[in-house]
Amino acid sequence: MLRVHLKKTVDDSYNIDIGSGIVASLPSLIQKKFSPTFCVIITDSSVKKLYGKKILSLFSKIFPQTILIDFPAGEHSKSRETKSMLEDKIFNNHIGKDCLLIALGGGVVGDVTGFVAATLFRGVPFFQIPTTLLAQVDSSSGGKTAVDHPSGKNLIGAYHQPKHLCIDTDFLATLTQEEYVNGIAEIIKQALIQDKKFFLFLEREMEHLVQQNKEILHKTIVWNCKLKANIIEKDEREAGPRKILNFGHTIGHALETLSDYELRHGYAVAIGMAAESRIAYRFGWLSSENIKRIDTLLLRAQLPVRIPKNISIEKIIAKTFRDKKNRAGKVKYSLIDSIGHCKFNVEADEHIVRECLLELQ
Ligand code: NAD
Ligand code: ZN
Repeated sequence: MLRVHLKKTVDDSYNIDIGSGIVASLPSLIQKKFSPTFCVIITDSSVKKLYGKKILSLFSKIFPQTILIDFPAGEHSKSRETKSMLEDKIFNNHIGKDCLLIALGGGVVGDVTGFVAATLFRGVPFFQIPTTLLAQVDSSSGGKTAVDHPSGKNLIGAYHQPKHLCIDTDFLATLTQEEYVNGIAEIIKQALIQDKKFFLFLEREMEHLVQQNKEILHKTIVWNCKLKANIIEKDEREAGPRKILNFGHTIGHALETLSDYELRHGYAVAIGMAAESRIAYRFGWLSSENIKRIDTLLLRAQLPVRIPKNISIEKIIAKTFRDKKNRAGKVKYSLIDSIGHCKFNVEADEHIVRECLLELQ
């Protein structure tokens, strides 16, 4: 036998810049590091109305061949149809391989743009300008890109890391309070799975964070992004440790899908964390005091902890235990075993999960 060895030395390092008003200097930063001929800004209808003109003119000054494409706002646009539409528009505009995609928007825009970038010309670079708190603290980093399928969320996608993240907190000023606190769910998750000190900080400062106190907000985003980066560096493709980021998401994703996306991602994850903490309690890993603290912090963040009345427990069980992603009906949970630490690949019996869900009805 003859063997050819391929050594992989890919360096996907990138920076996350965080601050107020920093988007203004992004085009010149791009010019210094890359020299794309074409820039394609991808956004949704709501973000386009608020920021489309401003960002397009900012980029056009340095990159004359910049276009902006949008699609209807909302989770329903996270689809194969949107991906095809974007690809068609890119080709119809004679954009070549030397292009750079820019995701301007929330998690939906980021996930779809990243997936288009992953497969366009077998992969082109993309930048993230996240404009929701959820996208700033979670979805824009880590390289998970995807679209949904009627069978479930994120079922078709790829790992494709952005080249740079520009977290400009000025964008958050136009978010509704519901959209803003939606992002706090992922921040609480980050603290629960990795860092008790961060949890204590959130317990001290939650009201300030909810009120968008600039100093607390910046400190929170930086702390949170460092924690997430720490996990991604260890395990980019979720072979093991990265799975802890899924805490609250097994139940959360089921709720999101069953509500037909009426329930926002963060809200669904908040309820998912309340439910999955109770599973951990059944294992004897958390005390009832812990459960109370977690519920209280979620409620102080104006997030829900109870299952909406119109979603049946049996449907949640069916969705989680018979999901296409879960092989052979075995559901592997990521569960915290103390505040600030999380285990992964934990199997929980159906009857325990049912009992925990019933508690939250
Ligand atoms: P979203 O992208 O739908 O944005 C929510 C709403 O806010 C939209 O209507 C949008 O138009 C609007 N909006 C965005 N920025 C705004 C601004 N600055 N001012 C006013 N309105 C604004 O939803 P999201 O909560 O940002 O993201 C949820 C998505 O992220 C889900 O699809 C979820 O699966 C995904 N996600 C992905 C990852 C990942 O690692 N890739 C992680 C977490 C969540
Ligand atoms: Zn999430």
